[in-house]
Amino acid sequence: MQLSLLKTSVLALALTTLFVGCSSESGGNSGSRSAYDGLPEELLAKARGEDRHIPSYSNRLRFASDVPADQKRAIEDAVSMLYLNTFKGGQEDDALKYLIGKDYLSGEVLQSWLEARAQYILPSTFNTEPDSDRRSDFPFPTEIPDMSSSVASAKSKGTALMINFGALVYALGKKKGVQYNVDISGFGRVPVKSPRTGILMIQEGLFSLLPAEHIQNSGLAIFRAGVLFHEARHSDGRGKLAGFFHAKCPTGHSLEGVNACDANYNGPYALGALVHKALQKACVDCSERSNAVLDVIYLDNMNRVNKGVGPSGVTSRLWDASPEGSR
Ligand SMILES: [Zn+2]
Repeated sequence: MQLSLLKTSVLALALTTLFVGCSSESGGNSGSRSAYDGLPEELLAKARGEDRHIPSYSNRLRFASDVPADQKRAIEDAVSMLYLNTFKGGQEDDALKYLIGKDYLSGEVLQSWLEARAQYILPSTFNTEPDSDRRSDFPFPTEIPDMSSSVASAKSKGTALMINFGALVYALGKKKGVQYNVDISGFGRVPVKSPRTGILMIQEGLFSLLPAEHIQNSGLAIFRAGVLFHEARHSDGRGKLAGFFHAKCPTGHSLEGVNACDANYNGPYALGALVHKALQKACVDCSERSNAVLDVIYLDNMNRVNKGVGPSGVTSRLWDASPEGSR
């Protein structure tokens, strides 16, 4: 297995059209002048100690022991964000409820959905080759997800945020007829019997893409929650749809030819974007500037939904999300 190829392959979420910090300035309607006048709103809030401290809610994610503490905390903040505000309802929330098969949204509902699909978090420095055992009892043994075009576009532009490493390892293992095991520090060898094993690997962009001076803590947590749900969606699907792999973006798209679009309405880009939007709408302390940044990310993700061509023989644009195997 070529780990370096894996890491830059299909499941990298590329965000290439971000222009942060240029679209909205704070209103500055306060009457009194101070040393803070003219500073961006988020810096003002930080200077005054007002930027939101996100209280911790417990989660069941298993962080490899070599995930840096600040990154672990940031991902836990993203999960906690599910609980901090009341969902507002509306079109996007309805679409999200439909996609996750629930008739209401709550922190519990969303966390439960996430943790059924995301179990382990690996650091960006993860560099251990998975080992393999023989296995002959794969479900749908003749239906292998097509990753050929994905591998070819490994040099995709953009900044990777996270990778659903488990889904990719599972699909490659199935193609070879072997079951891979991933050695996770602190947990030992984890057998990848299903994309639902839920092994997500941090990529640099998750922490570098949006500098903290451009967006508040709440905004960062919302952005990262969207990424977590995007990656969790890659744990779904069966047969040739296992992993809900991305498709090439079509001619005329800003990412034409890059494997960074979905061929369906209910893929990772839609799921992640709808969670992102539901949390953004519910956010009570997101500033105009943070909202502008979040808007760009939402639109960038939605512009990748139902754009590509799916695997041969698959005509539906609402893919069967029931998982292949179980962890
Ligand atoms: Zn993806």
